[in-house]
Amino acid sequence: MPKDYYEILGVSRDASQEEIKRAYRRLAKKYHPDAYKGDKKEAERRFREIAEAYEVLSDPEKRAQYDRFGHAGPEQGFDFGPTDFRRAREAFEEFFGPSAFDEIFNLFFGEGTRQQARAQPTRARRGEDLEYRIRIGFEDAAFGARVRATVPRLVPCDRCGGSGLEPGTGLRTCPTCGGTGRIEYRQFTMLGSFVNVRTCPECGGTGEVLERPCRKCHGEGRVKEKSELVIEIPKGIEDGARLRLRGEGNAGVAGGPPGDLYITVEIQPHPVFKRNGADLSVEVPVHYGTLVLGGRIKVPTLEGEEEITIAPGTSPDKILRLPGRGMPQGRRRGDLLVHLKVVVPKSLSRSQRELLKKFTDSLPPPEDFR
Ligand SMILES: [Zn+2]
Ligand SMILES: [Zn+2]
Repeated sequence: MPKDYYEILGVSRDASQEEIKRAYRRLAKKYHPDAYKGDKKEAERRFREIAEAYEVLSDPEKRAQYDRFGHAGPEQGFDFGPTDFRRAREAFEEFFGPSAFDEIFNLFFGEGTRQQARAQPTRARRGEDLEYRIRIGFEDAAFGARVRATVPRLVPCDRCGGSGLEPGTGLRTCPTCGGTGRIEYRQFTMLGSFVNVRTCPECGGTGEVLERPCRKCHGEGRVKEKSELVIEIPKGIEDGARLRLRGEGNAGVAGGPPGDLYITVEIQPHPVFKRNGADLSVEVPVHYGTLVLGGRIKVPTLEGEEEITIAPGTSPDKILRLPGRGMPQGRRRGDLLVHLKVVVPKSLSRSQRELLKKFTDSLPPPEDFR
């Protein structure tokens, strides 16, 4: 159960804004991690608590919300990250000087990073992930393919084997920090002076620097290369799909693991087929007479041309479905939808015209076909 904000600041529920501000400053000073004589963790916890209580109670809207709903709040309540203490920061710095608040948080934060750096003093760093786009043909997308691509990336330097060290040389103690990986400096604030610690910028906290950097990679341990890669395209891939090639991104630094390569696949549109997920559609020209009398028409498919039967009296709106002739999807395949398009000839010979006129005149009026 979180403690009551009013109790934390030691003020009554009808305290004025001025009283709240005074209480906050007094307590912030008391639990300042450099002034507090007790446990540092306890100081950090109390300081956060005070800042949070002030953040809420100093904001009339948030205070009203808190008075009504308590910690539950109407939605998720109050949730604070280190950057959310805007009001607490302002009130604190008004009194203790600019950036005083951040210094405290750096102190808390610095503690964590320093411990981490000490536990794992290494230069090793994972390589960056890379993005690359390729464009493939429609058939390759349908049936899968192995596509060649030239991808610019950083690979381990062959001269130093990725270590960054000029061959025959090694690491030496960092001259800036004397091998501790940390630099201590004295800081003067309203609360007095104290010693602060930050990570050594020269060695990045490892305590060691290169005796002599490799001549080819300048100590980076990796060099630029245009790598020829063969990319496996799975069958039925969608346009815009992203493939992840583990470990094919930039090489790591000083023995760190490589990053990943993300390939975005763009599919060239097909001149004949339109794709809708796993289904394909195609428009096929057909004569009016074939629809009326029935017959055979040729339909293009991904595998080549196929002949299909049109039943007598087929409507031109009818969509014919060829099952299993669409795009592969997993182990199955979508369908091919055939849209019929009646051909209307623009020029006819005299005899053709007469035949068609005779035929049309022989029919009952079109209203009768409604
Ligand atoms: Zn150093
Ligand atoms: Zn090198």
